[in-house]
Amino acid sequence: MKKMKLTTKIFLGLILGIVVGLFMQSIPNVAQTYIKPFGTLFLNMIKMIIVPLVFSSLIVGAASIGDPKSLGRIGGKTIVYYLATTAIAVSIGLLLGKIIHPGSGLTIPVDANSAAAEAPSIVSTLLNIIPKNPLKGLVEGNILQVITFALFLGIGCTAIGEKSKSFVSFFESLANIMYKITSFIMELAPYGIFALIVPVVSEYGIDVLKPLSLVIFAVYLGCILHALIVYSSAVKIFGKLNPTKFLKGIAPAAITAFSTTSSSGTLPVTIKCTRENLGISEKIASFVLPLGATINMDGTALYQGVCALFIAQVYGIELTLAQMATIVLTATLGSIGTAGVPGGGFIMLTLVLQSVGLPLDGLVLIGGIDRILDMARTSVNVVGDASCAVVVAATEDGLDPVTQS
Ligand code: ASP
Repeated sequence: MKKMKLTTKIFLGLILGIVVGLFMQSIPNVAQTYIKPFGTLFLNMIKMIIVPLVFSSLIVGAASIGDPKSLGRIGGKTIVYYLATTAIAVSIGLLLGKIIHPGSGLTIPVDANSAAAEAPSIVSTLLNIIPKNPLKGLVEGNILQVITFALFLGIGCTAIGEKSKSFVSFFESLANIMYKITSFIMELAPYGIFALIVPVVSEYGIDVLKPLSLVIFAVYLGCILHALIVYSSAVKIFGKLNPTKFLKGIAPAAITAFSTTSSSGTLPVTIKCTRENLGISEKIASFVLPLGATINMDGTALYQGVCALFIAQVYGIELTLAQMATIVLTATLGSIGTAGVPGGGFIMLTLVLQSVGLPLDGLVLIGGIDRILDMARTSVNVVGDASCAVVVAATEDGLDPVTQS
């Protein structure tokens, strides 16, 4: 109920901001001078939590994978499937962002303070992924380096098992504290978004609305295509399961995800659907699905691809191929640390933007419609987890014959 209220407030903040912005079109300077600073404060708060949030949640995410040796084949298949489908999802997002071009018709000059960094070459991006000095990477907020170091730590934790317990639980509580701070900050989102959108609309007028509806269209279309093409083919080819049967069987979980916008919250329904409707054994469901709810976020990655391109287009920044590859990498690895809670992917969008030096101010444009996007992406996140369970089960202990066509 509280979440619903906040969403309504955020939406109201956006609408009110647009209306006030329209009224202030003749005095855009007033909006810039007196209203925008409050928006900047809100953005700074988001920036403040990125590094600790990503760092702690990724360590916990990677550590939750468990002992790689004892997991063996099932673990390997699950992780490869999760990472591969996520990388495909973000590529679909980028492609749709390129084709639909939601940012056309709206051009906002880059604020000198948040100008995009010079695009690094692919080789230097790849070399820089491994930090020579991880603490420097943390201090400077080099997101790819933070991700890599956190992943190494998480994997190290799983390798030494019990002995890493106190370390992991420290970062687990840090991650929880960061989620809590995130929700405090999100309480301010209606005001932050209002303060950020007023100056934009006062300067650019009603033109901002069309691009936002195109973003929604691109994300929804991408989610549908991803489910219909990627998941349907995967369950058909690897699981010999009729895709319609699969989609029907998982529909209750997808609808729950759509309305709760939380894949963690939907987990019990996902487990129930996969076990009862898709014939997946408890052994596979209880490993693949909770892990998926923690580290697999295809819908989120797809949304980040669309949004990154949209923001680049609005700010008139041409992304290079190397930058797009960085987005695929960051969104894929970042999904491991994305919490399966409402709005988790929005916070991680900052990470994707930052990795290629896109202006974080672009977040405000997305903020007001994020809930609508969250509904679609969470459904895809959940359906993706279930498709992995089908593929792993079918290639391990088999699906219950009742579900086969
Ligand atoms: N709400 C999504 C989920 O729970 C995460 C996100 O915000 O993208 O899966």
